[in-house]
Amino acid sequence: MASVRLLPDNRSVPVNTIFCIGRNYAKHAAELGNAVEETPVVFLKPVSALIGEDRAIELPSFSNTIHHEAELVVLLGRGGKDIPREDAPGCVRGYGIGLDLTARDTQDALKAKGLPWTIAKGFDTSACLSAFVPKEALPDPRTLRFTLDVNGERRQTGDTAMMLFPVDVLIAYLSTVFTLSEGDLIFTGTPEGVAPIARGDVLSLHLMDTVSAQFLVR
Ligand code: MG
Repeated sequence: MASVRLLPDNRSVPVNTIFCIGRNYAKHAAELGNAVEETPVVFLKPVSALIGEDRAIELPSFSNTIHHEAELVVLLGRGGKDIPREDAPGCVRGYGIGLDLTARDTQDALKAKGLPWTIAKGFDTSACLSAFVPKEALPDPRTLRFTLDVNGERRQTGDTAMMLFPVDVLIAYLSTVFTLSEGDLIFTGTPEGVAPIARGDVLSLHLMDTVSAQFLVR
């Protein structure tokens, strides 16, 4: 069973469903030529896509353009159906920092045909995750900053104040469609700056001064 680590004691938490949000930062939607939607863009990754720092990123054979997307990731400690926005913060157990790796060439081809993105987003090692910190260890989720460096060079800087749909809205919205559960993860979308990765790259993620993670591309 796939799991994530929860600090401070590194306990293992089983993962249920991996929800992902697209186009949640206006500048990133613009850099890919996408419109901003009135409701969150939602897709899923299989739990088989998940890796922690103990594993390397494996570039899939079917794509020539794997993009990094650095994202704040939410771990739910409690779920439910039709969760009111004001109750959503109580469902959060912790936060981590992750990569929603995307086969951009494959995604573009599928989008052009109106077909689902699943293989462009769900291939093995496409969901890279740090350890999680309990929410109490971080300030308000609307004031979190995160960064991605590739080979020591800053590539992405995120500020959750810039989210089109903040974390509590995402939880409330998702719960109108899906019954949410303890152990669900939400990749909350990426800011601008996405770019290709290559074999040998080292990707370093930081969430505030609280948690970091490093991944090698093999
Ligand atoms: Mg993404």
